[in-house]
Amino acid sequence: MTKYIFVTGGVTSSLGKGIISASLAKLLQARGYRVTIQKFDPYINIDPGTLNPYEHGECYVTEDGAETDLDLGHYERFLNVATTQANNITTGRIYQNVINREREGAYLGKTVQVVPHITDEIKRNMRLLGESGDYDIVITELGGTVGDIESLPYIEAVRQFKWEVGSNNAIVIHLTLIPFLAAAGELKTKPTQHSVKMLLEYGIQPDILVCRTEHHISQDIRKKIALFCNVNLNAVIESVDAKTIYDVPLLMLKEQLDRTVLSKLKLPLKSDPDLENWKDFLGRLKNPTAEIKIGLVGKYVELPDAYKSITEAFIHAGAQNECKVRVESIHSEGVTEENVKSKLGHLDGVLVAPGFGNRGIEGKIIAIQFIRENNIPFLGICLGMQCAVIEYGRNVLGLKHAHSTEMDERTDDAVISMMEDQKKITLKGGTMRLGAYNCELKKGTKAYSIYGKTKISERHRHRYEFNNQYLAQYETAGMVMSGINPDNNLVELIELKNHPYFVASQFHPELKSTVANPHPLFVKFVAASLEYAKKKN
Ligand code: GLN
Repeated sequence: MTKYIFVTGGVTSSLGKGIISASLAKLLQARGYRVTIQKFDPYINIDPGTLNPYEHGECYVTEDGAETDLDLGHYERFLNVATTQANNITTGRIYQNVINREREGAYLGKTVQVVPHITDEIKRNMRLLGESGDYDIVITELGGTVGDIESLPYIEAVRQFKWEVGSNNAIVIHLTLIPFLAAAGELKTKPTQHSVKMLLEYGIQPDILVCRTEHHISQDIRKKIALFCNVNLNAVIESVDAKTIYDVPLLMLKEQLDRTVLSKLKLPLKSDPDLENWKDFLGRLKNPTAEIKIGLVGKYVELPDAYKSITEAFIHAGAQNECKVRVESIHSEGVTEENVKSKLGHLDGVLVAPGFGNRGIEGKIIAIQFIRENNIPFLGICLGMQCAVIEYGRNVLGLKHAHSTEMDERTDDAVISMMEDQKKITLKGGTMRLGAYNCELKKGTKAYSIYGKTKISERHRHRYEFNNQYLAQYETAGMVMSGINPDNNLVELIELKNHPYFVASQFHPELKSTVANPHPLFVKFVAASLEYAKKKN
């Protein structure tokens, strides 16, 4: 039978439940278990697809086209296993399912209530991945902090679930904070005690405490936490601040989190964890032989989480090239013809980010013209590709009004326009072109040499596309449409011939970059930037 691990959070948010969950999953996977992680988010949006990145950071898109929490990106990057819609559930979706069923008359005249109907629907979703038979262990991360009003139905569902399957089949890991009071020079356990007390009020005794801390926790403090929180001494796990999130699996291994978990779930240790490739990656990450500076031009740069998968993909690609990639954020709204040289001139490569709407668009276009004319390596993603097409249209093809109909509906030269099947859609949530689609690469192109094959599949999230009425004109002018969707002829990848690296994609390569499989478009972009940096000096 599948075993279940629930991860709750106490004291404060932002303790890194996602990273702890992913790290534990990595260790269990490295011991030979089939593991997946799911996240329950207590907000009422059906999914984060309609949320502004300032609200919620990046929206991570899965193969099956679900718009999900960015923690799913960590799960995939650590485990190298694809997630699906079932891996991210929100309160909105839970209520929607229950309300739809009520309208169907499925509750047979009963009053529909939080307990048992909402909690039952939560439990049904907790079991879904386990019932697929694909996993030995399912880790379920509960968003929010214990004590929040909106988390209550989830906590109650966990209590019931644990009672139903028994304590050998489901355990609760509580992630908590041990703050350091500088004035007293001491680590404090009281917030953790209170947070565990609150869980106990809801009927849950946590099995394991993972304690986030800035300083090592002494044996005495561990004993104190164990005694007052009623857990075994070896179930008090220290999680000290790490230099990189990729260190956390090894830190958890040292604390024997995986052993404690397996013993509580009555599962054998199997083999010692095989982390050779992971350590190899860390070795390359921490011992770079060169350094480059890449500009990330976007309009959400104030919030680093908005471009999480992109910055992580640079970490993977950097390690692959044994090169430290310093990512410099550049606000697209601040880029003008007058200052573009001072803002971008010192960079070894520039990535123009995905995005929506008009704000900052002209800055992106000016940046791309500068990059193109000065032979600086360039990677454009989604809106970044669309801007590259607009820039080329305006400055090379002489289409003065070249634009996307997203920004200017009535432009004379709609080189980027809304996809035909998007035009009749009025609802905003979950209606973009989402998830994995096939793409065919043309032989002899840079794209083909980067991927080393003609058939690829990549993930999407957009409503607008390259307008194929302009295809011949662009190709004659030297832009190569190197990747095309074979089913509907949409342009998915573009490149320029006489440029060291000018590649842009309608899809999002960053979503598929993992520690085990750094994405080739990023790996080769970093390599080209490194080459450029060497020549420059
Ligand atoms: N706004 C553009 C579109 O919808 C690009 C989307 C994106 O960059 N993800 O097509």
